[in-house]
Parts: sequence; C-alpha cells; structure tokens
Amino acid sequence: PELNDRFIRVVRPDGSVLYVSDIPNNNSFDPRDVPLLPGPVTKETTHKEMTKRGAKLLVVSDPTPVNGRNYLVEVGISETQINEVLGRFATTLAIGLPVFVAIAVFGGYMLVGRALAPVQEITGAAQEITLHHLDMRLPPINTGDEIEKLSNTLNQMIGRLHRSFQMSSRFTADASHELRTPLTIMRGELENLLLDKTTPPSLAEVLNSLFEETERLSRIVEGLLALSRLDTGEAQMRRTKLDLSELASTTAEQMCLLAEEKKINLTCSTNGRVSVEGDPSKLKQVVVNLLDNAIKYTPAGGEIRVSVESKEGRAQLHVADTGPGIPDGALPHVFDRFYRADEVRSREVEGTGLGLSIVQSICAAHGGTIAVKNLDKGGCCFTVELP
Ligand code: ADP
Repeated sequence: PELNDRFIRVVRPDGSVLYVSDIPNNNSFDPRDVPLLPGPVTKETTHKEMTKRGAKLLVVSDPTPVNGRNYLVEVGISETQINEVLGRFATTLAIGLPVFVAIAVFGGYMLVGRALAPVQEITGAAQEITLHHLDMRLPPINTGDEIEKLSNTLNQMIGRLHRSFQMSSRFTADASHELRTPLTIMRGELENLLLDKTTPPSLAEVLNSLFEETERLSRIVEGLLALSRLDTGEAQMRRTKLDLSELASTTAEQMCLLAEEKKINLTCSTNGRVSVEGDPSKLKQVVVNLLDNAIKYTPAGGEIRVSVESKEGRAQLHVADTGPGIPDGALPHVFDRFYRADEVRSREVEGTGLGLSIVQSICAAHGGTIAVKNLDKGGCCFTVELP
C-alpha cells in the first residue's frame, strides 16, 4: 500500500486493529488517524472519512468471515488523488473529444463522398442526355451495388426512349415524304388552271387561294421533313472546315434584295476568318432562317445587323434587328415546334412556326447552341454559338 498510496486496514471482530498500512509516499494522510466505524459492520459499505489532520479519504469497508466471525477489511484512497485522476480525465476529454469529433466528421465526409461519387458521375452524364443526344448512355458503374443496378436500369430506359423517339420521328419523316408528291401534283395542276385563259375570273380567285394554301402546306411538309430527318440523324451532314464570316456575309448579300424591298437596312460586319466545322448548306439555312424572320418581323425603315466573331474559342453569329422584339412570355417557346407568338399570328405574318426549331436542331447537330434576347433599345438578337 505504501507504493500506490492506498490505505489498508484490517480490524478484528472485537474492534481492535489487526493491521494498518504505513504513511503513503505522497504523505497525504496518516492511516492511523482514520477513525474506526462505530459498531459491528454486517455488509460492505462505502463512506467518506476525515483524518484528524483534515485529509479526506474514500473508504470501502467489507466484513470478511473467518471461522464464523467477521473481520473488517478496509481499503481507501485520498480524495485529492481521485480528484487528480478526474482532472486528468477531464483534460484528456477536453482535448481529445474535439479531435475525435473532427476526425469522425472528416472521415464521414470522405466516406460519403466516395460512396456518392458514382451518383455524381451519373447525374453529370444524365444532364448531358437531351432529346438531341438520346444515343448517349450513362457511364458504366462497376460498384456491384444498388447504384450499378440503378445506372443499368436508367440506361435501358434511355434506350427504350431513344427507340420510341426514333419511331415517332420516322413516322413523321415517312408521312411528310408521302405527302410531298401529291402536294407537288396539286400545285402543278392548280398552276395550269390559273394560267389557263379560259378559267372564269370567279373560279380563278378560288383557285388562287387554293394555290396559296397548297404552297403553305408544302412549306409545312418540307419543314417537318427537314426536322424529322435531323431528329433521326438521317440528314446528310457534310463535315467541312468553313469560314462562318464568309458564309454569313454572302448569305446576307443574297438576302439584301428582300430587305431592300421592305426598306430595311441590312448590314453584315465580320472581323476576319472564323473557322467552324460543319455542313455549309445546313449552316447557310441557319443564317437564312434567322434573316428571313428578321426581315419578316422588322417594320419598314428598320435595321438588321449580322455579325460574326470568335469568342473564347467558339464561333458566334449574331442577328439583331430593330423590330418589335419577342414578348417576354413567348421567349422560352420560340424554339418550340409550330410555336408562333400570338401577336405575330394576329398580324398575319406568313410562317409555319418551324423555322427556329429547324435552326435549333441544326445547331445541336453541330454541337452548338442558339439563344435569343430582347434588346434594350427595341428588337431582339439571336446568337448562334458553334464550336
Ligand atoms: P415563323 O414561321 O412563325 O416565323 P419561327 O419558328 O421562325 O416561325 O419563329 C417562331 C416565332 O418566333 C415567330 O412566330 C415569332 O413570333 C417569333 N420571332 C422569330 N423571330 C423573330 C424576330 N426577329 N422578331 C420578332 N419575333 C420573332
């Protein structure tokens, strides 16, 4: 007991002390000063005692039978020693607990991050898969768990979507193709009747209106055919390196006459060669459709500006006009198929509502985008961006 500073005492059944330990090393108390428990002790008790010189002890007294009589074995320790141990424990907790919590939080964060990495990969890839990229698939995930199953199921679903989308595009393409020939025949026959001098004027008027409607129908059918061919990927894409500046300025030049007829000033500003890779006839159609709209919707005396520039490694084509602009509510829909803003319908400007959808599909097929915004000073600006 002197080595570990404990107090030990054995008391005979008659109350006299058989053994008491020596003064401990740290000199914190004198074991002989620890008062004896009054009366016979029949069961183990824990009690606090104070020595004559004021040292406090925690003592356990345990009656131990020997030959039928109870000897009292007492073991104790100074309270200052207990407090010291508790103090050290509190310090360890105060320093250790925050470190432990920090390690647990960091470890948890890393583990969750690792577990969710495939989910992030799937999310990123899924965002890339749009209507124009239904042939893309989610990356193979070989985690052997539910995430792998989810990724495979999603891929099968995208495959089914792709097939049904192709079927519906195929149907539109076939239907438009079949409608083309009878429409051409009808237009020819109507034209012949209109040119025939013997046709009475009242009938000619009706025939003229029929001819105009047939032409409109033909434009719709041509637009639908072009769109569905782009959707199914059947549209023949010639991939050549070309100068977008040159393509825009020659197309603008060719359409100048149309603009002049409406007394619209059409200008094109380019700043050197801007190289893009794509199908010249399809990209020309983009410029034609945008200019056609600008000329259609800009009133006489207005202005149309075409410009081409290279920005951050991407080619940009802007077509800005001083027309009425696009109502805010219509802005998100102008690229939808058959969409025409109500105001335009009421002004009876000719159109099918397919022009901008075709432009968007061509841009997407070239890995590009198209956007539109209204300008502060009136009119709107379409921006095509190509790699
Ligand atoms: P549309 O054959 O009607 O011109 P588009 O797909 O080319 O069909 O355009 C869709 C709609 O977008 C048009 O009906 C019109 O409301 C709006 N729009 C397109 N270009 C312009 C423009 N330059 N200025 C104002 N409105 C425009």
